Amino acid sequence: MKTILVTGGSRGIGKAIVQKFAENGYNVILNYNKSYEAAKAIEDNFKNVRIFKADVADKKEVQNMISFANDTFGNIDILVNNAGIGCTGLLQDVTYEEWQSVFDVNVNGIFNCTRLVLPQMISRHSGKIINISSIWGMVGASCEVAYSASKAAVIGFTKALAKEVGPSGITVNAIAPGIVMTDMVSSYSVEEFEDIRKQIPLGEIGSTQDIANSVYFLASDEANYYTGQIFSPNGGWVI
Ligand code: NAP
Repeated sequence: MKTILVTGGSRGIGKAIVQKFAENGYNVILNYNKSYEAAKAIEDNFKNVRIFKADVADKKEVQNMISFANDTFGNIDILVNNAGIGCTGLLQDVTYEEWQSVFDVNVNGIFNCTRLVLPQMISRHSGKIINISSIWGMVGASCEVAYSASKAAVIGFTKALAKEVGPSGITVNAIAPGIVMTDMVSSYSVEEFEDIRKQIPLGEIGSTQDIANSVYFLASDEANYYTGQIFSPNGGWVI
C-alpha cells in the first residue's frame, strides 16, 4: 500500500485529506504543529495513520519527520504540502515579522518538505507532489498581499519543479481552492460568507471534502499524465 505524508493534517483541509486517504487504505503520516489533541483523535480512529509533530518551517524538524515516516512505513510515495497560515490587513500594517512568518510556513515549508522527500522519489523514479496554493495566488486578494504573494510563489514553485523532475518520473501539481469553510476563514461574518456565496456560480462555499477529492485524483494513477498543473476547485468563482 502507498504512503502519503500530509502536512498540516490536524485540522481543516488537511484533516479531510488525511481521512480520505486513510479510509481508502493508504498509510498516512499526519503532520501537525500545535494541535496535538486533534491529531491524536484522528490517529486513534485509523490504524493506518501515524502522527508527527513538526513545524514545516524548521528544516531539522522536517528531517526528523521524514526519517520517522521512512522508519514507520518505508518510502513516501505522495507528499501533500498543505500546511499554511493566513495574514490579513492593509500592506502598510503588515509587520516584517508577519510577512516573514507567512513566507516561512507557506513557501519555505514547501521547500523544506519537498527538498527532503525528493531524493527518495528520484532514486525510485516515481512520486507525486501536490501543493496547496489558493485562488488568491492566481488573482490576488486586497488586504491579503502577503498571503497572495506566498500562494503565487507556490504556483511558480510547482510549475518549475514539474519541469525539473518530470524526467525523473515525478509529477508536481497544485490545487488552488476557492473559499473553504475552515478555521482559517473563521473571522468572516455570516454576511461576508453570504456575499461571497452569491458571487460563486455554483452557489456554494467549498467543503474540505471538495479539496480532498481533488488531491485524491491527483495522487491516483488516473492523473499520471498531469504535471505542472494548477487545479482550482472554486465553484466557478474564478474562471
Ligand atoms: P486551517 O484550518 O487553519 O488549518 C491549517 C493547518 O496547517 C493546521 O493543521 C495547522 O496545524 C497547520 N499548520 C499551520 N502552521 C504550521 C506549521 N508551521 N507547521 C506544520 N503545520 C502547520 O487552514 P485550512 O483552511 O485547512 O488551510 C489548509 C491549506 O489550504 C493552507 O495552505 C491554506 O492556505 C489553503 N487554502 C485554504 C482556503 C480556505 O478558504 N480555507 C482557501 C484556499 C487555500 P496545527 O493546528 O497542528 O498547528
